[in-house]
Amino acid sequence: MKPKLANSNESDVLIIGGGICGVATAFHLAQLGERVTLLERGEIAGEASGVNAGGLGGLGWGNNPDLQAYLTAGSFEIFKTLQLDMGYDIEFHAPGGLQAIHTAEQADYVKNRVLRLQSEGYHAEFLTAREARAIEPEASGALAGFMFLSKRARANPTKATVAFGEAAAALGADIKTGHDVQAMTQQPDASWQVRSSQGEFRAKTLVLAVGAWSRPVGDMLGIEIPVAPIKGQMWATEPVPPSIFHLSGSMESPFDWSNQDSDENYPPEITHRGDTRVTRHLYGGQTRNGEIVFGGDRQMVGYDYTPDATGIEVNRGQATEVFPLLSRLPIARTWAGIMPFSMDGKPIIGKVSQFENLFVLTGLASSGFGRGPMSGKLLADYIHTGHPAAVLAEADPARCVNLK
Ligand SMILES: Cc1cc2nc3c(=O)[nH]c(=O)nc-3n(C[C@H](O)[C@H](O)[C@H](O)COP(=O)(O)OP(=O)(O)OC[C@H]3O[C@@H](n4cnc5c(N)ncnc54)[C@H](O)[C@@H]3O)c2cc1C
Repeated sequence: MKPKLANSNESDVLIIGGGICGVATAFHLAQLGERVTLLERGEIAGEASGVNAGGLGGLGWGNNPDLQAYLTAGSFEIFKTLQLDMGYDIEFHAPGGLQAIHTAEQADYVKNRVLRLQSEGYHAEFLTAREARAIEPEASGALAGFMFLSKRARANPTKATVAFGEAAAALGADIKTGHDVQAMTQQPDASWQVRSSQGEFRAKTLVLAVGAWSRPVGDMLGIEIPVAPIKGQMWATEPVPPSIFHLSGSMESPFDWSNQDSDENYPPEITHRGDTRVTRHLYGGQTRNGEIVFGGDRQMVGYDYTPDATGIEVNRGQATEVFPLLSRLPIARTWAGIMPFSMDGKPIIGKVSQFENLFVLTGLASSGFGRGPMSGKLLADYIHTGHPAAVLAEADPARCVNLK
């Protein structure tokens, strides 16, 4: 590692944002020997990265991984390393995932999709409800089937995000909480001066990893980062004995989204347009402490943290169609968090072309927990070597980040 700079407020790379994207970038940069400071205005994992369902992994690498496969399968390996090799108990567990199929039309859609995915080398299977009940006994036998994804996994979102921060700090990164960044100024030598609520910082390179706050933070620099804040909400039962063993969800929303026209006013794959529900979405499972946790709605309602009771009931109804035992279990708590959805549905990872030494990592939408670690690694490699991995071309900010 390089020696520490005399002034502790100076570093090679300054990262703004202590969610999974920021801490994963800090960890990988520190591994490469870069001197890193991270500024988070609240606590590490205080926003979306700490309140999500912890779902990760998916289809595996496939024969010719695209960006999403790269981020998902790569992150799966990084989470596994954190749990199995680095000594952090992040509750990583990879039992696989089951996606419920509610209708005959959805079953046809899934069978075609499974054939295509298998031909591309991905791990996906169609199961009858009977076959699914052999591995998930509480699943409903009345459904039209399930899609089984053997590479799905789960980790505790807060523990995992905090662990990346601790692993970065152990390698020398300076992780600072309670620092609300209020101004960023590029110096004549192209380095950055950053003012937070608690002090001034200087670094050659600046990384914005501020999730759903990409637009307001971009405003400080006079750039538009087209990321919409999307509310996600969840609910949990009291802890109960082990009852649900897989990451669980439904194919209803992917089926509906595949049949929907895009609307430039909304990012893709959300559950509401204005007040109108366009689909039901479902994900969840049982956590190590025994709570059964489900969620699904994705609404563009600004920075609103109030769970919507009607939406929670719709979600619970759908979860009960999949797991009838849920009809007997009352909801013990509900919560919401804000996800960063890019307007074109793709991650935004890379150099901001309008400035020297400015990078952004955002727009990971509803899969940012499961895709953040590999996104952070790819960005760290890019900053360290000066060259982006070829797979990042799809995520290039140049396609959508503009001067205002
Ligand atoms: C209910 C729910 C369920 C979800 N389920 C899953 C799931 O199962 N699997 C999955 O992969 N993903 C899931 N997600 C999505 C996932 O949580 C997000 O995509 C991911 O956490 C985004 O990480 P991030 O680091 O970009 O943003 P965040 O975690 O939001 O972190 C950004 C950080 O930047 C900080 N910040 C902002 N402005 C400033 C400033 N001016 N100065 C300093 N700091 C600042 C914020 O305080 C925040 O801590 C879910 C999300 C929600 C809400």
